[in-house]
Amino acid sequence: MRSLSRRRWLLGAGTAAMGAVVWARNRAERLSAPAVFDVHLHMPSENGGIFQGLYGPTRTMEDFVRYLDRCGVARGIISSAQSVWATSPEEFRAGNREVARWAEKYSHRFAGACVVHPVYIEEALREIEECHRQFDMVWVGEIINYHRPYGWSYSIRQMQQVLEQVSRLKMALHIHTSEPQEIRALAEAPGFEATPVVWAHLKDGTFYEEVDVLRRYPNTYLDVAAGVNLAMGSIEYAVKHLGSRRVLFGSDFTVADPCVTRTRVEHAYLTAEEKQDILSRNAYQLLARLGKTFPAA
Ligand SMILES: [Zn+2]
Repeated sequence: MRSLSRRRWLLGAGTAAMGAVVWARNRAERLSAPAVFDVHLHMPSENGGIFQGLYGPTRTMEDFVRYLDRCGVARGIISSAQSVWATSPEEFRAGNREVARWAEKYSHRFAGACVVHPVYIEEALREIEECHRQFDMVWVGEIINYHRPYGWSYSIRQMQQVLEQVSRLKMALHIHTSEPQEIRALAEAPGFEATPVVWAHLKDGTFYEEVDVLRRYPNTYLDVAAGVNLAMGSIEYAVKHLGSRRVLFGSDFTVADPCVTRTRVEHAYLTAEEKQDILSRNAYQLLARLGKTFPAA
């Protein structure tokens, strides 16, 4: 071996050895870290029609699961992108049935969520009941109010009716964030305080005020999905004011990246116990309260 080639070879071997050490350390850290429970997952549609994310790299359920594996997300709550973006009751019903099928297939891993649109109130109330009775779902949402052709306020009467139905069936409600005054308005509805209500990714600009509103209602949770929660200090602020038991790991995958959210939580200025609460413990406990447990993997 000529000296130049030998030097190159040694350099290459050294780099490979160093890489192996780093890989082993990362793997050891990953294995010792708690598995993540993600309460905010939007699975892709089987019909190939509706994907999220800017480029849609995870287009099938198999891709979706593979990426969650890469991020160490062991369990989660899945809702259908088709249902979230539905423009008719038929569409949200179809999406919920896909979710039910996949939640059954991956029963050790996912709980299914039932998405409705309160503007179709009759169908929405009936659908929540069916999701609960036929498919054992304990989670309603994520409810969103901003996409066209809707655009409505959470303070509308129909949203209160959805909340009453969720409360009657002892389920949880997951809501895309909104203005603080809308949170307050919904909080006046009958059944609110008896129902776990999870607010997704609080907004930039009104974040502090929203945390302040949530602080007054012990039945509410914040999920740390994409949004202002990725900003330095936001998760720490939420934990300081709500307590770590009311903050849940949510990523909004496939809109956003669960690996990024995980990194954000793991690097937060919090104790190991507080991180464990957020990464998985709170979600397991909340679902167990609603009667949903998971078989061993
Ligand atoms: Zn979402």
